[in-house]
Amino acid sequence: MRLEGKNAVVTGGSRGIGRAICLELARQGANILFSYAGNTSASEETLAQLRELGVKAIALQGDVADAQAVKTLIDTAMKELGSLDILVNNAGITRDGLAMTLKEEDFDAVVDTNLKGAFLCMKEAARPMMKARYGRIVNLTSVVALRGNPGQINYCASKAGLIGMTKSLAKELGSRGVTVNAVAPGFIDTDMTAAMPESARQAMLDTIPLSRPGQPEDVARAVAFLASDEAAYITGQVLCVDGGMAM
Ligand code: NAP
Repeated sequence: MRLEGKNAVVTGGSRGIGRAICLELARQGANILFSYAGNTSASEETLAQLRELGVKAIALQGDVADAQAVKTLIDTAMKELGSLDILVNNAGITRDGLAMTLKEEDFDAVVDTNLKGAFLCMKEAARPMMKARYGRIVNLTSVVALRGNPGQINYCASKAGLIGMTKSLAKELGSRGVTVNAVAPGFIDTDMTAAMPESARQAMLDTIPLSRPGQPEDVARAVAFLASDEAAYITGQVLCVDGGMAM
């Protein structure tokens, strides 16, 4: 129970890796406020699982790319939970396509959600964390930010940008006791990767030294560590959780 009494905001907590992060933080004692885009039935399932763990749990529908919705998210955490100790920027989308034919709106949608969304959340969270002289921010990037990936120029740009933001904010907030780190998952079994064609899936699996796709829980445990007091002297880092894929 290394997160006993801590209050956490997780974006995109209704499904996949975000849900696993909510559950892992809650298992370790944290109260959870999570956001989601629009999948109410998935968010209700996460809520029910969180409440079974005996922590305070709140779900809020809202777009991370909308500054007003993000302000409401952080204000709700302060009002309903009383403080904001942990922020996990997990919400993310893909809109794949080769660069030559990728629609401008698909570029913008991915950058708005994955990059601007994380910026807006960190901007709102920075003030209460600085005031408290305590905070843990964990951003979900991807190994493709380090390696590039054909068909994902928008996604790779957003996730590489997130690494730059992680390091910059780590330098801005370090003196106030706030750490900012990134976790870079490889190939994880979620709705996001289920949409891939079987041949592309197999090609990915062939590049993983540990010879299996990751599970959302593999990522969640790394996030929970970086969110804990045990990680107090780690900031500005990118931790790959990828079965060895990116080395
Ligand atoms: P997922 O299964 O598609 O779930 C995405 C989550 O984000 C859902 O909870 C969704 O809410 C929420 N979301 C999407 N757009 C949002 C928005 N504009 N505002 C608020 N919430 C929004 O994705 P995942 O595979 O768990 O991925 C989670 C994170 O890990 C993402 O940042 C992704 O880029 C990253 N990642 C994943 C993999 C992988 O292999 N799966 C690898 C590397 C990195 P709704 O349920 O309401 O739609």
